[in-house]
Amino acid sequence: MGNTVIKATSADIKKMMDHYQRYLSEKVPPGGVFAAKTPSCAITAYKSGKVLFQGKDGETEAAKWGDASLSQSKPKTDKRPSGSHLPTNFASMSVIGSDEVGTGDFFGPITVVAAYVKKEDIELLKELGVQDSKNLKDDKIIEIAKQLVKFVPYSLLTLHNPKYNKMQGSGMSQGKLKALLHNQAIQHVLDKIAPEKPEAILIDQFAKEEIYYNYLKTQRNIVRENVYFSTKGESVHLAVAAASMIARYAFVKHFEQLSEKAGFTLPKGAGAQVDQAAARLINRKGADCLPEFVKLHFANTEKAMKLAKRG
Ligand code: MN
Repeated sequence: MGNTVIKATSADIKKMMDHYQRYLSEKVPPGGVFAAKTPSCAITAYKSGKVLFQGKDGETEAAKWGDASLSQSKPKTDKRPSGSHLPTNFASMSVIGSDEVGTGDFFGPITVVAAYVKKEDIELLKELGVQDSKNLKDDKIIEIAKQLVKFVPYSLLTLHNPKYNKMQGSGMSQGKLKALLHNQAIQHVLDKIAPEKPEAILIDQFAKEEIYYNYLKTQRNIVRENVYFSTKGESVHLAVAAASMIARYAFVKHFEQLSEKAGFTLPKGAGAQVDQAAARLINRKGADCLPEFVKLHFANTEKAMKLAKRG
C-alpha cells in the first residue's frame, strides 16, 4: 500500500473532482478540496495543490494525473470521463461503442445502437464530423449517419412503444430494458465482426456497472470482456459518438413515421407541448391509440388525459 503524492493545478483538481464524482466522500479533511474513495484507492486533494493517492492502485491512478499536470500547457483533447477507469490511449483504440436515444421522449421508440470503430477509421470519422450529437442539429446528424452506416459495422435495435409498454407494464424498469438492448446490440456487433475482436467495448453509462450487470443476470449471453462504462461516452471514444448518431438517425426516422400516423407533427421531449399533442391525439383517435405512440408510464399520459377531457 503506497502513498503517492502529485502536484496539480487547481484546474486539474477540478477535473479530478469531476472524474471521481461518483466516489466523492462527504468528509473532507482540513485544508482539503475533496476526498474520494474508488474501489481501489483513496484520493485526497488539498488547497496547496498536493493530491494524495493511497491504496493498491494509488500509484497507477496518480500516474494518469501526473501526466495531466505536466502537460497542462497544451490542453488535452480527451475530457476525463467519469466512469470505469479506462486504459491509456483509449480514444485511439478499436472500440465498440453503444448508446441509446429516445428514453426521455414521451412519443417515439427507444433506439439502441452498438457500433464498431476501428482505430484506422478514427481519422475518417473525425473528417466526416462525427462528434457528440448533442452539439448537432438533426439534419446534420442524419447526413453524417448516412455515411457511417455504409462502412461502420453496427447493430440497431428499435423498441417500439407497443412492446415497450408491455414490458414496462409487466414490471421491467427502463434501466433494465436499456441494459438488455445494449447487451444484445453489442453481442450482434461482436458476431458481425468475428473472428476480429475489439480492443475494448464502451457503454455510454446510464447505470452503475453493478446495476447494469444485475439487470442482465438472467440472460444467457452477457458481454463482459473488456467492457467499460463512462458517462459522456461520446467524448471518450468516437465509437459511442457514431453509435449515438446512428441511433438518433433511426429515432428521427421512426418519429417522422409516427407523426404521419398521428396526422400532425409530434413534439419531442417530455415537456408541456407533448401533453397538448397527446391530448389532441386522444381527441382524434381515442385513448386506445396511446400505447402505440407514447411511453405510457410517463406522467405526461395523465396530464394529456386531463387535457383531452377538458378539450
Ligand atoms: Mn447515452
